[in-house]
Amino acid sequence: MGRQGIYKCNQCGNEFEAQEGGGFYFVEYRCVDCDYIKSINWDQTVPADQYCEPPKEKIGVCKKCGGELKDGLNPMCPNCKSRDVQVDEEKISVLYD
Ligand SMILES: [Zn+2]
Ligand SMILES: [Zn+2]
Repeated sequence: MGRQGIYKCNQCGNEFEAQEGGGFYFVEYRCVDCDYIKSINWDQTVPADQYCEPPKEKIGVCKKCGGELKDGLNPMCPNCKSRDVQVDEEKISVLYD
C-alpha cells in the first residue's frame, strides 16, 4: 500500500510532500538521480514464492533524465537531494491501494 504525506529531511530539515510505495496492481520506481516516479502495472497479488520483478524492458529508464529507476527508494528531499528522510505519521494525507 502506498501513502502520500509530509516528509521531513533529516539532513536539512526541509519539509515536503511526497509519496511512496506501490499498490496491489502496480509498483513504483523512482529515478535515483531526479526522483521522477514511474508506476508500472504489475500484478503483485500472486503468492510470494511466484512473484518476480518486472523485466528490465518494462522498467526502462527515467524519461526526464535517463537515470536508473529503482524500487524501494525513499523520496528525495527537493532541497538537498538527500534520501535520509522520514514521513510525519500524523501528516499522512492519502493512503491508497
Ligand atoms: Zn531522472
Ligand atoms: Zn534536505
